Amino acid sequence: MTQAEWEAICQRCGTCCFEKKIDKQGIVHTTAIPCRFLDIHNRSCRIYSQRLQAEEDCIKLTPELITDLKWLPDGCAYRDYIK
Ligand code: SF4
Repeated sequence: MTQAEWEAICQRCGTCCFEKKIDKQGIVHTTAIPCRFLDIHNRSCRIYSQRLQAEEDCIKLTPELITDLKWLPDGCAYRDYIK
């Protein structure tokens, strides 16, 4: 799979780009606080090609990482793809 094919799986919902909080039970809660680089109107990253350099918490999603990233939201197209 090419990088373009991999990235085409994303549905651009932007849900992964909101801050998360993990409670004492380990349950992940998505907050209403977006990443400072997220365009909340079209739900896309405003600095996509530089995101990894500009935001230290940003993670490049790969097939190998998806199953380990428990904070990815239900309904994320990558989670559905890897199942
Ligand atoms: S939650 Fe998944 S489908 Fe939605 S923007 Fe993030 S990576 Fe793409």
